[in-house]
Amino acid sequence: NATPNDMRAFWMPFTANRQFKKEPRLFVGAKDMYYTTHDGRTVLDGTAGLWCVNAGHCRPKITEAIRQQAGELDYAPAFQLGHPKAFELANRLIDIAPEGMGHVLYTNSGSESVETALKVALAYQRVKGQGSRTRLIGRERGYHGVNFGGISVGGIVANRKMFGTLLTGVDHMPHTHNLAKNAFTRGMPEHGGDLATELERIVTLHDASTIAAVIVEPVAGSTGVLIPPKGYLQKLREICTKHGILLIFDEVITGFGRLGAPFAAQYFDVKPDIITTAKGLTNGVIPMGAVFVTNEIHDAFMTGPEHMIEFFHGYTYSGNPIASAAALGTLDTYREEGLLTRAAELAGYWEDALHSLKDCPNVIDIRNIGLIGAIELEPIAGEPTKRAFSAFLKAYEKGLLIRTTGDIIALSPPLIIEKAQIDELFTKLRDVLMNNI
Ligand code: PMP
Repeated sequence: NATPNDMRAFWMPFTANRQFKKEPRLFVGAKDMYYTTHDGRTVLDGTAGLWCVNAGHCRPKITEAIRQQAGELDYAPAFQLGHPKAFELANRLIDIAPEGMGHVLYTNSGSESVETALKVALAYQRVKGQGSRTRLIGRERGYHGVNFGGISVGGIVANRKMFGTLLTGVDHMPHTHNLAKNAFTRGMPEHGGDLATELERIVTLHDASTIAAVIVEPVAGSTGVLIPPKGYLQKLREICTKHGILLIFDEVITGFGRLGAPFAAQYFDVKPDIITTAKGLTNGVIPMGAVFVTNEIHDAFMTGPEHMIEFFHGYTYSGNPIASAAALGTLDTYREEGLLTRAAELAGYWEDALHSLKDCPNVIDIRNIGLIGAIELEPIAGEPTKRAFSAFLKAYEKGLLIRTTGDIIALSPPLIIEKAQIDELFTKLRDVLMNNI
């Protein structure tokens, strides 16, 4: 094991990380559904790493693709020249994207995909002669990464408050969660479409001609798994279309099969103008993100003389050969194993197993969609997060990795999970919750 002294230079400024610096707990290996710890135990991965290892750990096709590419072409300067794998990947991504989204920009993370999407949206409005459209609308409890644009449109005040004004001209819609709380709803709540009228209110307040884009996670993940009520996303789409506002789906979590379709856009049958992705694109193995745009957006930029295109954007590592190869290996694995629709096959079994924890002590809500689950615990007065963090530590000791956010336990296993492993997960979790603080 590492000692606290070994970890002295490593800084991740989260509370949980401070805890681990006092008493390091390490993963030293992984295979398929399981991690191996420093003390030789196996831990069932209930969270696909951080919502990213959708195909399971150390999968041969992906490992081999990386190995081969690293020995063949390690880097190509993205700003002047391309390489075949980046093109092949873009074509393969378009094949599984919602119809009409025919172009992708590459990034290196979810946060960068969000910045890219916001910049594309603002630049698009300008290219279309709508330069007055500079406002952005996000949502309370939305999570869009940690960069400046992302925390501006993100709905977590605590993440914003140290950084002054950030992007100006941002509003936040209320979140669906207000309706779902304590309901133990299976799947999507029936009602709540009215929440979308809050968007109408904001649009009326500022005048549609000042608003560039709305950004939402189709299912908010990091802030505790907040499931949209039926009809809600459709309503957002209608309002955006009516007012010439772009709709951005942040699919960093929902992309690549988490709900049982390649993207949430297909699962909910709602077409956004821009989709952000990362995580599952490379199975979490190598940093990479992709932003999908409609043909209409792409074409608007490409109509003028080439030297007149003023939209400067891209990263040194955009479409990096090794990352592209990893993504191709990932897509191959998804396709060969039917993983992009597997969550739909398992969703019923998953839902039943998850909701069987309803009678555990301190459980005040349970929510699910696709292969995602959330168990909300009653916070201890004055010590929010303590109860869930205690469950996290107990689960780790019992050989199960869960994720916590506030006093909510979030679950999102690799899509290769078998029914027997779903049973294992919930047996362990029941044990933890029955004996938790
Ligand atoms: N958007 C969403 C919806 C996310 O869930 C996340 C990460 N959890 C991000 C953006 C940021 O991604 P990254 O950590 O790769 O920057």
